[in-house]
Amino acid sequence: MKLAVRECAHGRGVFAAEPIHADALIARFSGPFLRYAETSAETYALQIGPDLYIGESGGVDDLFNHSCDPNAGVRISGTAAELRSIRDIVPGEEIAFDYSTTLGEGDFTMPCRCGSPACRGLIGDGRDLPQPVWERYLELGILPDYVVQSRPRGPRA
Ligand SMILES: [Zn+2]
Repeated sequence: MKLAVRECAHGRGVFAAEPIHADALIARFSGPFLRYAETSAETYALQIGPDLYIGESGGVDDLFNHSCDPNAGVRISGTAAELRSIRDIVPGEEIAFDYSTTLGEGDFTMPCRCGSPACRGLIGDGRDLPQPVWERYLELGILPDYVVQSRPRGPRA
């Protein structure tokens, strides 16, 4: 998988350097395992379980940005996390995933200016995703169990 790191509107981002088909492996997340208390707002950490995070690796996997209309999603299996495409991606397109999909701690919010027409304006936990988005992500298999279990069952208003 050829990827390119470039400056973009929101700092650095990761871009496709070749066509990527849907459901392809883009990157594996690596780095130290951290507890919530060991994470900070200043450093990148990917939540992969209840009170479990993968910290910075210094590699490309630290640099994927958020989008409310993502072209990739995180699949978590045990302590392994992969970024996979959820649709075809053309060269030059920024690769991004929806940060809310992995968030289950209940205290994270970040203003979003991703520019997508579907932009939610504020990134929160997975359980706060709008119902149609939630259902689509469920179907794509990019909501980990701890996030699925954090959401009350039944449709939301
Ligand atoms: Zn957005």
